[in-house]
Order: sequence, then structure tokens, then C-alpha cells
Amino acid sequence: MKFTIRFNPTLAAVPRYQPGRPIEEVARELGLAPEAVIKLASNENPLGPSPRALAALRNGLDQVHLYPDGNAYYLKQRLAEKLDVDPRHLALGNGSNEILELIGHALLGPGTDVVVSDYAFAVYPIVTHLFGANLITVPARDYGHDLPAMRRAITPRTRVVFVAQPNNPTGVAAPEAEIQQLVEDLPPGVLLVMDEAYREYQEKPLDLLPWVREGRQPHLVLARTFSKIYGLAGLRLGYAVGHPDLISALDQVRAPFNVNRLAQEAALAALDDREHLERTRANNAAGMRAYEQAFRAAGMAWVPSAANFILVRVGDGQRVFERMQERGVIVRPMGGYRLPEWVRITVGTPAENERCIAALLEVMASI
Ligand SMILES: *Cc1c(COP(=O)(O)O)cnc(C)c1O
Repeated sequence: MKFTIRFNPTLAAVPRYQPGRPIEEVARELGLAPEAVIKLASNENPLGPSPRALAALRNGLDQVHLYPDGNAYYLKQRLAEKLDVDPRHLALGNGSNEILELIGHALLGPGTDVVVSDYAFAVYPIVTHLFGANLITVPARDYGHDLPAMRRAITPRTRVVFVAQPNNPTGVAAPEAEIQQLVEDLPPGVLLVMDEAYREYQEKPLDLLPWVREGRQPHLVLARTFSKIYGLAGLRLGYAVGHPDLISALDQVRAPFNVNRLAQEAALAALDDREHLERTRANNAAGMRAYEQAFRAAGMAWVPSAANFILVRVGDGQRVFERMQERGVIVRPMGGYRLPEWVRITVGTPAENERCIAALLEVMASI
């Protein structure tokens, strides 16, 4: 029998997210043992979760028959303390991905515009179209956001501007002065979403919290996540820091228990593990140097990155991705981002980086 109910017409325009391929799936397909495959495709923490988070998880396992605290009191208190904001400035999401979607629920609909940059995070167009809003894509500048041009692209119908700092998939961080300018000069009626998923990898990240804390820009919201440097991608936890009125609206449209109890407990423990963060940052900086050195030696072009991944130009990105995958190395092809000549590589452990570079050079020599 055919399915004949008409789908919501907005669905036709919603692009499908193409995730990095899971290790198990690739191993199954190639007939390899999962241990023989490495994944450098989703910007996960190659050192794994914080040991403190793991201990908290083990400790919390026998409570999973209970619903989580829907308001995540303890986690919000701890985060608020750490960020020096009132908890009323905080909303939690099932990944910061959900935060982006809640923003759509609260602010977007037919007749509204969203401004994004070319080569920006794939979830922004998805959220835009999900709510029937109109997407305005501004050409990138040197693979990064052209913030002055994005400011000029704002229309009276614009409700949301999404900016990732640093950007994924290119790794480019916009100049601080341009961000400050945009925050200061935001037209009324427009929410600026600063997606700071990779902030902790930046050497000197711009601190936008004072704008929120002091209420100087009520229309700025920061989106952050435990998926990247905190190594908890599998638990799904992200948060928004913004004006209490926005936070209240996000809270209104979320599902009642959107953040599970294990995620809350692991995040609480991970927040205090400075050592794990420092180790991750050091590993990332060393790995980034290894990739740049290899690309330079091979005469390959790359985009200097402020995050934990790097874009490298390989010619036929899809083909190189497939050939590397045959060698048990999963990277991310960029055709879906209109960067078909590039692949994106997540910085791994030293051994993973070495193996990835060897596979890449072998593939490049063979095509
Ligand atoms: C990975 C990523 C996120 C975070 O996703 P989660 O839903 O928190 O796992 C958000 N924004 C960008 C730009 C990302 O790359």
C-alpha cells in the first residue's frame, strides 16, 4: 500500500543533513573490523570524554528509570556560575542543534528571512526551511563570513542571522572588530545567533558574554555545546546564553525532558575537568601543525583553521573521500557544502593523524 497523506509542504524544501559516516557502518561495508577504521569526519574529541564525565555516567546508570530534572537545576546553576550569568540567561538543548531548532520554533515562519554565509553550517538552511522561512545566503570572503555584507543583506523581514565563530566547515574565524561591529549595529527585530561550537579550541576567543550579561545587546544569543571539546557528542547536550525573554520562549517550545539525565550529570563533571580540556587543546594544536606541514610538503592548499578540523584541497573530494575510506580512514567530503574540491579532516590523535596523512598522500599519488 502506498502512503498517500500529504506531507507538510515546507518539507519539500528541507535539505537532509548528511552526517559523517559512522565507523561501524563503514567497517560493515568494507568487511573490516571496526578497530581497523578511524573516523576523522565529525569533529569529535579524539581523546574521548573526560574521565570525570565517565565516572559520573557510571554512577548515574542505575537511576535511568527516572525522568531527568526537566529544568536541569544543578547543571544550570553550575554553568551560570562558570559564565557569571543568572540562570535565567540559560536554555539547554539536545545538542546545540536543538537550540538552533528551538530558535526556529520561536522566531521563524513563512514571510521571515534568515541570513547566513555561504559555506556555513548545514543545519542553518535546514532550520530555515523547516519553518518555511526564506534563506538569504551571502557569498563568503576567503572561506569565512563576510560580516559587513551579511549586515547589508538584512531585510525588514529578517528575524535571524546565523554566524558560526569559528565557522564549520572552513575553520575560519571572523575578525573580532567585524563581530563587535555587527553586534553593536544589529537592526531592531533581528536575532544574532553566534554559534560558538568550537570556541574552546581558539587561542584567544572573543568574549561576547558581557553583551548578554549586562543586557547591552538583548538580541544576541550564544550557542555552545558539549559535543566538541568536551567530548560528549553521543550524549547530545548544548546550551544557549541569551536574554531571559528569548530563553523563556525557547523553554516554552522545547520538549519537556529534552536533556537526558546522563547528559546532565556527565556535563556537570566535564565542566570541572580543566586538565582534559588542556590535553585536548594541546593535542589539537600539535595535530594541526602536523597536517599543515604535510600539506605544505605535498604542495596542497588548505584553509588555516581556528578549530579542530582542517579543509584541504584535493581535486575530486568525493573520490578522495571514497579512496581514503577504502583504506579505513573516514574524512568528510564537502560536495554538500558546494566545496567539491575539498575534504574536511578532523584532527585526531597523533597516530590517527599519521595514518590519515599517509592514506591521503597515497590516494593523491594514485589518482
Ligand atoms: C558540531 C556543531 C554544532 C554542535 O552540534 P551539537 O548538536 O551540539 O552536537 C553546532 N554548530 C556547529 C557549527 C557545529 O559544527
